[in-house]
Amino acid sequence: VRRLVLLLGDQLDPQISSLRDADPARDRILLVEAAEEGRYVPHHPQKILFILSAMRHFAAHLREQGFIVDYITLDDPANTGSLDGELARARAQYKPDSILLTEPGEWRLLERFCQRQSDWPELELRADTRFFCSKERFARWADGRKQLRMEYFYREMRRESGLLMTPDGEPEGGAWNFDADNRKALPRGTRVPEQAHFPVDRITGKVEVLVREHFADHYGQLDGFDYPVTHADADALWQHFRQHALASFGDYQDAMASDEHWLFHARIAAAMNIGLLDPRRICLDVQADWQAGAVPLNAAEGFIRQILGWREYVRGIYWLMMPEYAERNAFGNQRALPEFYWTGQTRMRCMQQAIGQTLEHAYAHHIQRLMVTGNFALLAGVEPSQICDWYLAVYMDAFDWVELPNTLGMVMHADGGFLGSKPYCASGQYIKRMSDYCSGCSYKVSEQTGARACPFNALYWHFIMRHREQLKGNPRMGLVYRNLQRMPEAKQQALWDWGEHLLARLDAGDAL
Ligand code: SF4
Repeated sequence: VRRLVLLLGDQLDPQISSLRDADPARDRILLVEAAEEGRYVPHHPQKILFILSAMRHFAAHLREQGFIVDYITLDDPANTGSLDGELARARAQYKPDSILLTEPGEWRLLERFCQRQSDWPELELRADTRFFCSKERFARWADGRKQLRMEYFYREMRRESGLLMTPDGEPEGGAWNFDADNRKALPRGTRVPEQAHFPVDRITGKVEVLVREHFADHYGQLDGFDYPVTHADADALWQHFRQHALASFGDYQDAMASDEHWLFHARIAAAMNIGLLDPRRICLDVQADWQAGAVPLNAAEGFIRQILGWREYVRGIYWLMMPEYAERNAFGNQRALPEFYWTGQTRMRCMQQAIGQTLEHAYAHHIQRLMVTGNFALLAGVEPSQICDWYLAVYMDAFDWVELPNTLGMVMHADGGFLGSKPYCASGQYIKRMSDYCSGCSYKVSEQTGARACPFNALYWHFIMRHREQLKGNPRMGLVYRNLQRMPEAKQQALWDWGEHLLARLDAGDAL
């Protein structure tokens, strides 16, 4: 064997750098179903099924291209259960001249393979070129800046890529973002598009049996799996979204509605993150739809910003700051993650809905993650690594490089404001404005304290009061602290006491 190429489960892209100049006649490709990767956090069974099934489909595709593929299944008795263990086994068996691997998207794995390089000099790690912005490019952008704001990074990416730019180098529509248009609640009676469906085929069916057997102890439902696991199906999902939902994506991207799991969201992140869709092509398609007049600019810009802006930015932050970033805990939070995050069993309807659909589909959209489950964890002072591990485990699209900065930085503000200029904290009023959850809840969003009061309300003010010293100087929090100051002492005390009461109940294992 001239070269051995190890492909990881999120590298299922024929254009991946490790396959560049690969020769089917002389090179061998290795794909491994590693139990350790499914278990280091308890990944949602549908997420494991998604990745393993996509790996098997991709291996079949490579074989059709004439490649020799070694595919190590989860139940292979010789499988050591780890990626580097299996690479060591293949190395001993084939004695390749070189081993190629595109850099893993996770610091934990990159470090492990970098350590292996001292014993295996033939191991070559290649940069992952599936992104608009390389690690080095991001580091150059970040160098010397006091604050690393996404907005400024995004503008540079717009200029560099030319996406939604006029020939004179100005943003189309005369503004860089149209966020103000993108915060509408869903009007009652709005028709939400039908979803594209992806029936379980023979390969996925076989993997499903295996996952059921090996990961029975993981939270989350396995039945009802409905995700694309091939490039063709991922493209079908994308085309369906373009045709039926993209035009309204901007308007309703922050809206939430009971029992509506998808609304106008594309749910392509999982497919894109494992290599089934190319982010560059996605952005070009969106631009083309806007140019053709099929979608408004606020939808096109809002969508492109998610990919060209946020997705690239959080990856840049991750590689710039790891491994120290994962340890940050700016508020000194110590509380354990409440058990109901794994079951959805709480009387708070917004949490039931967000967690319930997460268990059912391994999916919730970004406002459910940021302003419901994330907001609650922030207000309750959950220890950041516990909530980060939860997000990493339960979401189909969650890989460390994208999940960690989003959760630790944006949701928990645990990096001290590196990623977000203010904490995304909100009382029940925000959830009421953006959803219909409150009308069906056992709690009253209009009440602040007492047994019927929405827990988000007192927990919000408790958060504001307990972090006063850290946050009062933040210009974006000025209004909140002025409101607090105007509040009668007795009311402040009542909110503090009720907040304490709720936190004590959480500590006692009460699901609220
Ligand atoms: Fe959530 Fe409070 Fe509204 Fe209930 S009342 S759904 S707990 S925000």
